Amino acid sequence: MEFSSKLLENAVNEMSQLPGIGKRTALRLVLHMLRQPENQTFQLANALTKVRAEINFCKSCHNISDTVLCEICSNPKRNSELICVVEDIRDVMAVENTSSFKGLYHVLGGKISPMDGIGPQDLNITTLVEKVKTGEVKELIFAMSPTMEGDTTNFYIFRQIQDYNVATSTIARGVAAGNELEYTDEITLGRSIIDRVPFEASLKS
Ligand SMILES: [Zn+2]
Repeated sequence: MEFSSKLLENAVNEMSQLPGIGKRTALRLVLHMLRQPENQTFQLANALTKVRAEINFCKSCHNISDTVLCEICSNPKRNSELICVVEDIRDVMAVENTSSFKGLYHVLGGKISPMDGIGPQDLNITTLVEKVKTGEVKELIFAMSPTMEGDTTNFYIFRQIQDYNVATSTIARGVAAGNELEYTDEITLGRSIIDRVPFEASLKS
């Protein structure tokens, strides 16, 4: 792609680093920004800079939060004995949308995937095990996507906490195998949490 301006080329190159954005789309977006009121582009740039520089993760559940403890963890109406273990914050959003869950979350930040070089030490597993060790958690609900990596991650965590007095369950597999939680419709996902099954029973099937 030949550019008449170095500034334009830079902007297109930066934009095209984003997933799913090729050079053509990047060019279309940058030209769109040049047509819209200047202020709008500055607001976008400012929001991105701010989110990048000031982003904070809840010190308890690792969800993205503007405060030290996120709104969910600091809400006294939530049941802190029940923890839903999810891969990333999109899953928190998906489960919250169902309004079926009143416990807390624990965001692992990914799943164990030897193929991608992601091991247990790369995920927020230690803090989860520590929570279980305090004895304040009565049940962990594994809500990872039903993929091989999701299963591996569930099993790894299960092995770490099985000697402690905590129940483990996994969401009912109404969620079709290989589906990501965030694409599951709210009613199905809500039901699959209510109809959760003991984790050990899921191992035998
Ligand atoms: Zn939190």
